[in-house]
Amino acid sequence: MAALAQMRADLLNPDVRRSHNQPFRCARCGYREICDQSLAQVSAGPGVQDNWDM
Ligand code: SF4
Repeated sequence: MAALAQMRADLLNPDVRRSHNQPFRCARCGYREICDQSLAQVSAGPGVQDNWDM
C-alpha cells in the first residue's frame, strides 16, 4: 500500500527520480528518447543493439 501511495504522490511531483539502476530496462523503455535519466545510451555496453533510430 505504501508503494501505491508513493506512486500516486509522484503523479503530482515534477521531479521524480529514476527508481532503478538497470541499463537494459532503459534500453527497452518506450520513453528512452525523451527521458533525461535514461541509462540506455551510456551503459548498455557491447552486444546491446540500440535500434531506436531505425
Ligand atoms: S528510459 Fe527513463 S523512463 Fe525509461 S526506464 Fe529508463 S529511466 Fe525509466
